[in-house]
Amino acid sequence: GCGICPKRCPFGAITIINLPTNLESQITHRYAANSFKLHRLPMPRPGNVLGLVGTNGIGKSTALKILSGKLKPNLGRYDNPPDWEDVIKYFRGSELQNYFTKLLEDDLKAVVKPQYVDQIPKAIRAADKSVEALIKGRVSLENLDEVLDTLELRHILDRDVTHLSGGELQRFAIGTVCVQKADVYMFDEPSSYLDVKQRLSAARIIRSLLRPDDYVIVVEHDLSVLDYLSDYICVLYGQPAVYGVVTLPHSVREGINIFLDGHIPTENLRFREESLTFRIAEGTEDFVAEKSRAFKYPAMEKTLGNFHLSIDAGSFSDSEIIVMMGENGTGKTTFCRLLAGALKPDGTKKVPEMKISMKPQTITPKFEGTVRQLFFKKIKAAFLSPQFQTDVVKPLKLDDFIDQEVKNLSGGELQRVAIVLALGMPADIYLIDEPSAYLDSEQRIVASRVIKRFIMHAKKTAFIVEHDFIMATYLADRVIVFDGQPGINAHANKPESLLTGCNTFLKNLDVTFRRDPTNFRPRINKLNSQLDQEQKLSGNYGVRK
Ligand code: ADP
Ligand code: ADP
Ligand code: MG
Ligand code: MG
Repeated sequence: GCGICPKRCPFGAITIINLPTNLESQITHRYAANSFKLHRLPMPRPGNVLGLVGTNGIGKSTALKILSGKLKPNLGRYDNPPDWEDVIKYFRGSELQNYFTKLLEDDLKAVVKPQYVDQIPKAIRAADKSVEALIKGRVSLENLDEVLDTLELRHILDRDVTHLSGGELQRFAIGTVCVQKADVYMFDEPSSYLDVKQRLSAARIIRSLLRPDDYVIVVEHDLSVLDYLSDYICVLYGQPAVYGVVTLPHSVREGINIFLDGHIPTENLRFREESLTFRIAEGTEDFVAEKSRAFKYPAMEKTLGNFHLSIDAGSFSDSEIIVMMGENGTGKTTFCRLLAGALKPDGTKKVPEMKISMKPQTITPKFEGTVRQLFFKKIKAAFLSPQFQTDVVKPLKLDDFIDQEVKNLSGGELQRVAIVLALGMPADIYLIDEPSAYLDSEQRIVASRVIKRFIMHAKKTAFIVEHDFIMATYLADRVIVFDGQPGINAHANKPESLLTGCNTFLKNLDVTFRRDPTNFRPRINKLNSQLDQEQKLSGNYGVRK
């Protein structure tokens, strides 16, 4: 190792990371002996949205817990915690002194949208568990109608929260926070389970909470959403589960570029060896594979209860990735299941039999045993192949938990196991439903690269459902746009080019993108900005490769 990290270095043993030298005197919190420690804190500014970005396990939720007053920072003295007076003295001279003083005097009311929305139903004690009763019980601002409309909550108002889907729970949780009058609003990963349109709506309603004297803090892994939402950004870096360091505030563009670069120019500090870019050039030559096989599927209809999906006939080839874009409830998963043969189309239509491997949208671990045992049972040949190890297993960093029980894995770990399992099955077509769920921004980029490299090298085809727009456009050779009325009557267009497909998709959302000149990251244009208007006029909604 490099001698700095207490455990094996997650970035490869030789990484020399030049950490700031005074870190030991800047411990904000340590949970227990030899446990995770957080260095420094992000400083929220009144009237601004502060965005936090960093890998999983780096201390983002810990920072929110401290800033919301739920966790008293112990300055590293877990065995002999200081009292609040000492804590405030410690932050003397910084804006945090003022912040904590007000927090302590109950002058600051903080409300938090928690990270794990799935746990909300269990935690609710109220007798009436309907969405309407729960939200209206919290109202202390005058924006209820706007919140209900923007977050599409009206049609689920009478629903019991225990019956909500992931996306509905997320919107309910965001809504509950947004109707309250508070001084500090925190949103821990608000885009999970939401489609692109809902992510933008959530961002708009969150920004509408800004007043000159309140604080808004958001933790977010979808970099286009983070970009769109934030006024400035603090990056968290370090070694996941061991320590995390919060950087000084940076402008949004600078902050995201620092995170991607792994380098803070103002501090001359490198915290990751490689820089993450979206340039397709990297290894492109390999990717221009010969397409030798063609597949076809017929026009199909599928009725499920009140939902009807009509699908245009389409064709695809090997060495191709087709990304499905569309709102939640427009039948993307249904289409995957039709292709996989798990559902039959209406009437006598038949999907040609193809060898298919599928990563389902929801992953429920039932396997008794370790990750290694699971791989030996399900994908032994691939798992033992050096090529597969190098291309898939190593980059997804499964070694860190390969001997842990599958049942005990975190969401992000399970997602990576599920991706490896799907790619490890011999098949012609890989159906990958929402691979970015639970992954942090760095893992999303790594996973996208792994999938792309695997599909191109193995000359296979992938159909991928993905709402993280950066990931979707990175992955896509072509796209299928789903449109229509979610949950009622939807339509899957035939596969088309990324350019025309994205134009159709983004036009529906009334959004344009440009590319960052440094790392080619797609960025959302501000609504009605000059670029936005120009691009709309010329019909270029903006995601050329
Ligand atoms: P992030 O939100 O960036 O994913 P967290 O702040 O949730 O990270 O966690 C940072 C680290 O602190 C993780 O390794 C986590 O396991 C650990 N941790 C979180 N809460 C506790 C706790 N109550 N006791 C001990 N360790 C904790
Ligand atoms: P997406 O993956 O695009 O979010 P899905 O294919 O999962 O959409 O679902 C499309 C619609 O079909 C949703 O409104 C869903 O509730 C409905 N649906 C899915 N499966 C069934 C079923 N077995 N019975 C009735 N409705 C269903
Ligand atoms: Mg967290
Ligand atoms: Mg789905």
